[in-house]
Amino acid sequence: MSRLDSFIRRLTAQKILLEDVAEKVKSVDGPVLELGLGNGRTYDHIREILSDREIFVFDRDLACHPSCIPDGDHMIFGEIRDTLAFCGPRIGGQAAFIHCDLGSGDPTMDLATSSWLSPLIDLHTKPGGYVLSGLALELADFQTLEKPEGIRPGRYHLYKKN
Ligand code: SAM
Repeated sequence: MSRLDSFIRRLTAQKILLEDVAEKVKSVDGPVLELGLGNGRTYDHIREILSDREIFVFDRDLACHPSCIPDGDHMIFGEIRDTLAFCGPRIGGQAAFIHCDLGSGDPTMDLATSSWLSPLIDLHTKPGGYVLSGLALELADFQTLEKPEGIRPGRYHLYKKN
């Protein structure tokens, strides 16, 4: 498969999964956390499909399209290992949905990220809340959900907290 095909599949899968989770999350109150602003594509889509939610966005850089810059109250700058650990008072409650797009493409780095990220995700997800992640996470108190048709195994991970 060419890199172009792979890129198209990745973005298509992201869109299908985000829309699937947005439907599920309608019955769960609480803010949304976007881990990894990047270009701002998925943030822009989430704010469109979950327009009634407060969305807090985390990244160490600001490199997104100018139309996708979150306001100052909702953009949390810095290393996510630090900011996610201490964002509780600012976000005001556990999240209904956390979208995590932090994969580096390097398997060792991704395992290291998953090991510090998993307990922080657990801490900030409310019971009944959802997590969609490009990285596999170790979440003991969560169920792994089936993904919608057409998403290749291993590409994304969808969890629901018990
Ligand atoms: N979801 C984005 C989009 O649709 O445009 C793409 C996100 S991009 C793949 C990953 C982003 O996560 C990068 O902007 C990078 O700076 C940020 N990032 C990765 N690891 C991070 C960390 N440990 N702390 C803070 N930001 C991090």
